[in-house]
Amino acid sequence: MPTASILTFGCKVNQYDSNTIYDTMVKSGYEIVNPEKNADICVVNTCTVTNSADQKARQVIRRIIRKNPRAKIIVTGCYAESDRKAIEAIPGVSLVFGNREKTEFQHYLDMINNKKLLQIEPVTHDAIREHANFSMGISSPGDRTRAIVKVQDGCSAFCTYCIIPFVRGRMTSRPLEDIMKEVRRIASTDCKEIVITGVHLASYGIDTGKEKTLADVLEQVHSIDGIERIRLSSIEPMNFPHNLAACLAELPKCQPHFHLPLQAGSDQTLKRMRRRYTTEEYTKLVEKLRSLFPNVGITTDIMVGFPGETDQDFEDSKSFVEEMRFSQLHVFRYSPRRNTPAADYLNQVTPQISAERSKRMIDLGNKLSTTFREQMIGKTVNVLFENCRNDDDELLTGFSGNYLRVAVNAPDTAINQILPITLKSISGESLKGNLLKVKKSEVV
Ligand code: SF4
Repeated sequence: MPTASILTFGCKVNQYDSNTIYDTMVKSGYEIVNPEKNADICVVNTCTVTNSADQKARQVIRRIIRKNPRAKIIVTGCYAESDRKAIEAIPGVSLVFGNREKTEFQHYLDMINNKKLLQIEPVTHDAIREHANFSMGISSPGDRTRAIVKVQDGCSAFCTYCIIPFVRGRMTSRPLEDIMKEVRRIASTDCKEIVITGVHLASYGIDTGKEKTLADVLEQVHSIDGIERIRLSSIEPMNFPHNLAACLAELPKCQPHFHLPLQAGSDQTLKRMRRRYTTEEYTKLVEKLRSLFPNVGITTDIMVGFPGETDQDFEDSKSFVEEMRFSQLHVFRYSPRRNTPAADYLNQVTPQISAERSKRMIDLGNKLSTTFREQMIGKTVNVLFENCRNDDDELLTGFSGNYLRVAVNAPDTAINQILPITLKSISGESLKGNLLKVKKSEVV
């Protein structure tokens, strides 16, 4: 049996795309092996959100070629879309194509198998704009417990630092019927949780005149038997639909975790980033979610070292982050992206200052995460267990509704079960707990 490996970088949207590539390869008779093993075909699905994402992709591609000198190397994803030439210049790469052409994956695979390697024509931005890349819809989740479902692709916000609208095209909503077909297929497996994802999830429906909204999508998904939990992946605070929080609160399968990318906690910086919300508006959204969902986990992305970010802007950001009591922070340093306005802004922050700010923000994130987890000790939460055990103590792990990793002493029969766990202590990045028989009313 021919073998293939798929290595994915970046966000859940890219993970979804890789799942569809996985499905195509399996249907074409490939055995999918771990990317560390030799394979006949190696697919690398790249990200380009920062310079370091590009650099990492190039390093990994070179390493795979060294380890697999006879393999066909296929590179796709956002970096392939933004700088195809840089990847084509790596000796040993067989084929490079961007996001739009992912729907043609079967065709490219056939060409490779027939040894007719082809040069894919670079796509124009107009073509990317039309691209939606939904036609592949996965038939089964790659993971037994949780499946990602892409309902939206692309973005029209053009934040001044971001390359994504150039490599994913403008916002495009997936038709509801198409989403539901995929959700029903997933529900017929024993997968328990669906993660609704998109590049700019909050904009779902805007391009179709709000014929269907994100609330409609969630209500429909909620009505499907077999799906026990629904989670939203990252959702932008701008365009956050006004009825969405109330709608989610009425749907008990929807989990109390929201990833709301903040990027900066200084109004001046937000304005220069063209983020179209103020810290006051962001605060109102967080307060609303906290009032509707007890013990809600609110996580965020925060950028440091944006051009022109003064010491005061950074201190404002840090204070605001502290005020928001996030349960987890993803901190990243600004890096200039081609064709974006911020790349030409004056007053670029030096790498030394950016590194020092990043360290301080990461320290704050660790402190907030510990505080949040300490507050959860003694509470009982429902945890969906995955096929995953800690390396050191062999405890089985899974996620609570508010997205805390929880580890317990439990047998393999607990895998893919949602079980009530009383949280006892913090252990590294997880919480340890006990499996208990409790009344439903005691679960938070
Ligand atoms: S909302 Fe802004 S940061 Fe997010 S993908 Fe769109 S342009 Fe990029």
